[in-house]
Formats: sequence, C-alpha cells, structure tokens
Amino acid sequence: MNAQPNPLPDTDALWMPFTANRQFKAAPRMLVSASGMYYLAHDGSQILDGTAGLWCVNAGHCRPEIADAVARQARVLDYAPGFQMGHPLAFEAATRVAAIMPQGMDRIFFTGSGSESVDTALKIALAYHRARGEPQRHRFIGRERGYHGVGFGGISVGGIAANRKTFSANLMPGVDHLPHTLNIAEAAFSRGQPAWGAHLADELERIVALHDASNIAGVIVEPMAGSTGVLIPPRGYLERLQAICARHGLLLIFDEVITAFGRLGAPTASAFFGIAPDLITMAKGINNAAVPMGAVAVRRSIYDTVVNAAQPESIELFHGYTYSAHPLAAAAAIEALNVYEREGLFQRAASLAPAFEQAAHSLRDASHVRDVRNLGLVAGIEIEPVPGKPGARGYEVFLRCLARGVLVRYTADILAVSPPLIVTPAQIEQIFATIREALQASA
Ligand code: PLP
Repeated sequence: MNAQPNPLPDTDALWMPFTANRQFKAAPRMLVSASGMYYLAHDGSQILDGTAGLWCVNAGHCRPEIADAVARQARVLDYAPGFQMGHPLAFEAATRVAAIMPQGMDRIFFTGSGSESVDTALKIALAYHRARGEPQRHRFIGRERGYHGVGFGGISVGGIAANRKTFSANLMPGVDHLPHTLNIAEAAFSRGQPAWGAHLADELERIVALHDASNIAGVIVEPMAGSTGVLIPPRGYLERLQAICARHGLLLIFDEVITAFGRLGAPTASAFFGIAPDLITMAKGINNAAVPMGAVAVRRSIYDTVVNAAQPESIELFHGYTYSAHPLAAAAAIEALNVYEREGLFQRAASLAPAFEQAAHSLRDASHVRDVRNLGLVAGIEIEPVPGKPGARGYEVFLRCLARGVLVRYTADILAVSPPLIVTPAQIEQIFATIREALQASA
C-alpha cells in the first residue's frame, strides 16, 4: 500500500449521507486505499478495520479474486437489461445465493441495496396475499429500534425516531411496532443471547388482536439488530415470534442485510438460530461490497403463488430495478461466494466467536462501560453518556480509537465492532485493547 500522504480533495460539493457534514468537512477523515484487514488514510496512517467497512466487507478488502472477476466482467458484458432479457451470471448468482439459504427459500430477487431489498420484500408480501385472495392483508408490523434502510417502506416499518421525524406525515400507512428487546437492567453483560426477554414476542399477539390477523401481511425484524447498537434477540424470542406468525398466517421477514453471509458464524442468522422465515432480505456481504447489490430470498411457495396467479404471458410482479443483478455485481457475488466457501469463512467466524466474546467482555470493567453485548463476530459496547450531551462520548471514543489506528462504529453512545471474518485473534485483542485505552482517555 502507498504510505505517502495524499492531498485532501475539495469537500464542498458532496452532501454526505448520515454524516454531520460541517463537522466532518472541518476535519475530514479520508480513506484512500485498503487491503485485507487494513485501510490506509490520506495522511498515510494504517487503520485496522474493526467494522468490515459498514458490516459488509466480510472477506477483507480488495480481494484480488473478486477484483479480477469484476474487471473481467466489465470487458465482457458491462450491462444487460434485466427486464424481459437475461444474462447468465444473474441466474448463476441466484443459484449460488439460493444454495446457502434455508431449505425451500430458493427464489432470489436481486436489488441494488439493503433498502431496496426491504421495499422489495414488503411488496412481495403484499403481492402474495393478493394472489392468495386476501388483498386486505396490507398491514406490517416492525419493531422499535429496527433499521430497515431509508426507503419510505423501510423507515415506516423501522423504529428509529430520527430517521422518521422529518418524514412523519409521509410514512407508509398501516404499520405498527413491537417493543424492542434491549433491557440493560435485566440483561446487562449477557454473553450471547440474553436469558431475559422471550416474553416480549407475545406483544405480537396483542397487536394482532388489535388489528385482526386478516388485515396483516407480515412482520419484519432484524434477527440481530445491528444499526441501533447491537440488540441480541433473547433466547426463545424469535421462536415465539415465528410461532405467532405461523398461527395467524403472517409472513415473517428477517432483515439479514447485516447478518447474512457469515456474520454470526453461519450463512444466515436464520440458519444460526435454526428458524426459517418466509423472506430474507440481504445486501452487504453478498459480494463483499465490491459492487452495490442486494437480494431477497423468497420461499418457493410464495414465488409459485405469485407467479401462478398471473396469466403465463403477463408480468407477475410489477417491480424491479435497472441494476437488479447488474453483471458486475453478479460476477462479484459469485466470486465472493467462492472465497467464502474456499476459505471456510463462515466456519472461521464461528470458531473465532468464543475468543471474540471473551475479548469483548474483558471491557466489563473499563471506564464508562454500561453493557457489553455480543453474538458471532459482533459486539456492542454501551457507554455512559456525558451528562446532557448524548452521543458525545461515543463520538469521542470513536475518534480516539481512530487516532490509535482502529476503526470502530458508534451509534450515539454505543460502540459496535464487526470486523471482516478474516480477522486474526491478535487483531481481535488489538481492537478491544484500543477501545479500553480510548475509554480510559475519555474524561
Ligand atoms: N437493513 C438493515 C438491517 C441494515 O443494517 C441496513 C444497513 O445498514 C439496511 C437495511 C439498509 O441497507 P442499505 O444501506 O444498503 O440500503
């Protein structure tokens, strides 16, 4: 990697997403290249990636196999329309993704992102009920603190107040929310799934009784919620949710944009928990984030119902994206899946998980720590806020870690760690030791 300092670009024109633009532009943090577990910053410093980018670079950065596949594809077939036309890699990528989904969930709809996957899944759920002759099933149940991307569908079923506030009058109608499952008083420092909280799934019965099952299309939750600060499902919670959905004919949608492709040490969180939902949304790790791509895995019976309800010569689902199964994204997905398989990265994540848990929980006695939560290769460290300044300490500790050469993520006063699955035990130690030092340095 080039260790020479790079000049900073003019930062004015770019409106940065989910960023305090003025704060950032006053002191830009710029990444210029990456390899394996490391980023290189514009000032020539090396940064250990404790977050796999944004939970997406599961095989580590700039994998030559994936880069070659994308470069090759760019010269062979740069783009092909996906509507009424096909290209072989789209079908091959679908077959490969289907092969690692739970049994029976082998119909794959490609999108360009997690947000698009969520909107796609919601639409498929509505189309399914309509095809079955129950079009009045139009309501969705999401969950507080859920993150389902930034489309109007996603923010409506999502449960993050800040993401909804500005758009409140325009949210999708007919949405209700389950309570979130985080309770630090009951479950602080749980290792893996908390023992407390399965009963929170029973709230779904109350909501179903309120709206009547005949009006509800489905329930969407992240099996493990990452974005709002690593919320681990209590033991038995997801099982209860699934049983209630099955009882009332509601489709269960797992938003696995973060958890699919090995994050928990299994191909999907569904496989990890042994629960098969009806739809799974994915993105992020699908092609190691080399080219934007998302997908929805659909139970075959749902696909058959929607497709067979239409005349053979008519379009069955009026939905799709210009970039659905983009050839470069599909090429990257096939090669990323090859890398995951060849290197056994999902199993690697599973085998590293106990040491990762141990290292995360070593922070229990570190300064300002209120809670440590973990599952697979994910940890959340909740810290005491600076009185009257929520989020200030999270930001400070994030900066202090960065100054010490480790990238972690912060959501208000919660730090999240989710390294690429190629992380070594020594790097795991380094990440958590750096967080300890950064916490100690915070007044
Ligand atoms: N769903 C979940 C669970 C996510 O974590 C994310 C992104 O972090 C999304 C959806 C949105 O994905 P994207 O940013 O690719 O639209």
